[in-house]
Amino acid sequence: MAKKIDSELCVGCGACAAVCPTEAIVLDGPKYKVDEDKCIDCGSCEGQCAVNAIS
Ligand code: SF4
Ligand code: SF4
Repeated sequence: MAKKIDSELCVGCGACAAVCPTEAIVLDGPKYKVDEDKCIDCGSCEGQCAVNAIS
């Protein structure tokens, strides 16, 4: 399963993208999104998000 970013909550800080080992988190306009094909569900991004937008 790939992680998902709630675009309503995401503030576009990029903290999650900075720690993703597979570069699965990419900009989508002002917010970030997870490329499901690249995400290996390592969970590293989740703890980085200050607004709990990643699940
Ligand atoms: S769970 Fe891991 S691989 Fe998937 S988006 Fe988050 S940091 Fe990247
Ligand atoms: S860490 Fe959270 S708020 Fe920041 S870009 Fe990632 S999902 Fe959005």
